[in-house]
Amino acid sequence: MRKFAEACGVVRTEGLVETTNRNSQTGDIESITLKGGRTVSGDFFIDCTGFRALLLGQTLGVEYQDWSRWLPSNRAQAVPSAKLSPLPPFTRATARTAGWQWRIPLQHRTGNGHVYCSDFLSDDEAAQMLLDNLEGEALDDPRQLRSTTGRREQFWSHNCVAIGLSSGFLEPLESTSIHLIQSNVSRLIELFPREKIRNADREEYNQRTINEFEQIRDFLILHYHQTQRADTEFWRYCKHMQAPDSLTHKIALFRSSGRIGRDVDDLFRDASWAQVMLGQGVTPEDYNPMVDKLDPSQWRAFMADLRKIIESAVAKLPTQDSYIEENCAAAR
Ligand SMILES: Cc1cc2nc3c(=O)[nH]c(=O)nc-3n(C[C@H](O)[C@H](O)[C@H](O)COP(=O)(O)OP(=O)(O)OC[C@H]3O[C@@H](n4cnc5c(N)ncnc54)[C@H](O)[C@@H]3O)c2cc1C
Repeated sequence: MRKFAEACGVVRTEGLVETTNRNSQTGDIESITLKGGRTVSGDFFIDCTGFRALLLGQTLGVEYQDWSRWLPSNRAQAVPSAKLSPLPPFTRATARTAGWQWRIPLQHRTGNGHVYCSDFLSDDEAAQMLLDNLEGEALDDPRQLRSTTGRREQFWSHNCVAIGLSSGFLEPLESTSIHLIQSNVSRLIELFPREKIRNADREEYNQRTINEFEQIRDFLILHYHQTQRADTEFWRYCKHMQAPDSLTHKIALFRSSGRIGRDVDDLFRDASWAQVMLGQGVTPEDYNPMVDKLDPSQWRAFMADLRKIIESAVAKLPTQDSYIEENCAAAR
């Protein structure tokens, strides 16, 4: 990406931002001063400083909206372990007593992590639980990460847009961080100002990004809130917490008629919502009346066809190991 951008005329300046300078009248960011004294000025700034949110949060004072009451996991322990063989072609998430554990099979190693809430589990217990549940030898000591799920009140303020962790954090149960970076870059390109920043563009950017964050948030909360577990304090908290109104409505809609009520730009499709609702035991009481227009033999035949198509497609697929070997093997 760097090579590509520089070939297009981008000039890269590396340095530690020490101060940020604002226009005293408009409040816009005019320049940043790097360690060593060099000043870089600009018309528009993208804050990519991760959790620090140096420009949007610290300089422009845009507050962080904390969603911990709905998504209380605030720590992770991560550790690599030996490569699995044969290589599973999927990531696995397993519920634990105060959170969940990931297992991501990679070419040279397996990525593992335990996401948990420190109010319900100590760091030492969390690290031990992770190590006890590895499928291969640990290749290092667990490394701890801290986070608070939530988002900035605005993502674009004055002449600055925050992208990545500076804009917010959604716990990694559905691995949405890099997707959010990509979709926000696309949204910024779509709404990029020409000669000056217009309020309507900024509001459009903020509203659509808020919607995107909140839809992902609700999808994550669904996994926890509809749990049938009540064996630990953490899961009892999740089961009995008050969900956001938007999610309460979605659950009620699905429970009453099997409908999803998904917005067009929701990252998760109907199948994903249905899968988590059904998987967590939310069963529809009714269904769309159009179904009655079909003879049961028609939809049985349709489902049988679908099964055959899937079976024949799966039979032709290579294993994960052979696909990687033939297409994208990393250097040994
Ligand atoms: C173990 C692990 C597994 C993950 N797996 C996934 C996954 O499967 N899918 C997914 O979507 N996401 C995943 N993520 C999350 C993803 O990696 C992050 O969301 C993403 O890298 C965040 O990028 P960022 O640029 O916003 O922040 P960062 O990567 O934190 O970058 C911020 C940068 O700002 C710099 N900075 C801060 N202050 C200053 C300053 N004053 N001056 C100059 N520079 C400064 C920092 O040095 C840093 O380089 C994972 C993360 C971890 C830790």
